Formats: sequence, structure tokens, C-alpha cells
Amino acid sequence: MLLAAQQAADPAVRADAASALATVAAGSSAAAATLAAVAERDADEKVRKTAAETADKLDPGARRRLAAAAWVQKGQEALKAGRLVAPPGDCALAHALKALELDPQGSEAQRFHEQAMAVIRSEVRATAKSDIPGAERLLEQASALEPGRPEFEEMRTAIAEAKQAEYRRTHVFRLVHKHSSKSTLGGIIAIGDGRTTGCRGMFELLDDGFRFNTEKSEDSRQDHVEFRSAQIKKVQIRDGGDQLHIETTVKGNWDFYGNSADLRRILQTLSR
Ligand SMILES: [Zn+2]
Repeated sequence: MLLAAQQAADPAVRADAASALATVAAGSSAAAATLAAVAERDADEKVRKTAAETADKLDPGARRRLAAAAWVQKGQEALKAGRLVAPPGDCALAHALKALELDPQGSEAQRFHEQAMAVIRSEVRATAKSDIPGAERLLEQASALEPGRPEFEEMRTAIAEAKQAEYRRTHVFRLVHKHSSKSTLGGIIAIGDGRTTGCRGMFELLDDGFRFNTEKSEDSRQDHVEFRSAQIKKVQIRDGGDQLHIETTVKGNWDFYGNSADLRRILQTLSR
């Protein structure tokens, strides 16, 4: 080994090796780590070989740990650049796994893997709020790299919840349905104002048509109806945006009141 240190091509490496040699005498693993570095980067193949052999003798894990640290370093760079799970060969998660494979018990590798997972989790959640297909793609790429991680189940659930919330926002509306046709609500959304009666219920847009179910009625009438698009004659917004008027071929006319943005969305969908 003394020979190797003296033959190192790079003076810095020679100095490293020399100081490592001093420690070798004490048999510490720090020396093995230094030698592992020499084995990694010295220009002379013979030097690399001798350093590697000696490092392995002193501490069989030294070279693996050094390589793991290099993957953690690469992983940090990928994380900073926003390459979380793609491309598959050059992303934070892939590098974390490489580090763990080389040094499964290493705290640095474990910590980096956890860190990468945490960033992926929050990225999936944040993306799901505005871009569900994007979140699904992220999760798919991540689970292709490391199948079977329990964290991915959680993320899958988060995406499913976001999907449901998105569906409720775009398809399900709480509306007031006017029953009495003698008086008008006059744009008042609350029912039970003494002038008219009605019910509150859930209006749901379907792939073909809509359904409405009474949740709370002011009289004895309970509506549980479903209409196909072919049964809808006419859809209009009236009363300055507050009333949705729907004429059907099978069960007469229906007047609903609600948030005008919701009513417009219903009009658009049913008019398609
Ligand atoms: Zn009703």
C-alpha cells in the first residue's frame, strides 16, 4: 500500500493516500473510506486496485458506502432540478434506491430515500388539486421504480379523493326546487318564505341527463327523478341568472334555484 500511495498520479491523492496510510496502522474505517476514495478516482489503475484491495481488507463495506454517498449526491441534484421520478434512470427516487441497494443500513441513504418519498408525496397531493391525470402519471412513474411501497397506497387514496371532490364540484349541486307555481320566489333562494313552497335537494349531472333527489321538503312532495337527455325539451336560465328552467317531455317543467355559476354549468352541460 505504501507503494500505491507513492505511485498515485495526482498529488492530492498521494497526500490523501499518505494520510490514509497513517491511519491504516490504527486500522480505522476512516482510513478505509479514504482508500476507497483513492480506489475510485486515482488515475493509475494499479493504484486503484491496490487501494481497493486494502480498503476491502480494512472495512469490507467502505467502497459500497462511498458509492452509495455518490448516488445520494446525484439524487440531491435531481431533487433540486425537480426530477423526482423521471426520467427513470436519472431521478431522485432511482438514485435513492441505488444508494439503498449499495448501503441498505446506511443512515444517509435511508434519510435521502425518505426525503425523496416525502417530496413525491407532497407533489402528488399538490398536483391532484388541479391536474388529476398529472398526479396519476407521477404516481405511476414512482411506483414503477419501487413497486409495493405502502406510501403509494396513501397517494392513490389522495388522488381518488381529489377525483371525487372534482366530480362533486362539477357534477353535484345543492339546489332549491320550486313546488308551488302560483307565486314566484322572486329570486329568493331560501324556501319557506310564505309565498311559495319547495324542496332542497341534490341535483346531479349524469353522462346522459340528470337526476334530482329531495333531501328536505317543505310540503309532502318528495322528488326522486331521473331524466335522459332525450327527455329534456328545453333548458333556460331566467330571473337574472337565479332560476334554471327545465322542460321535460315526460314530467312537465322544473324550476330550480341556486348559485348562478352552478346553474350556468348545468345549462352548458345539458345544452350540449
Ligand atoms: Zn321538489
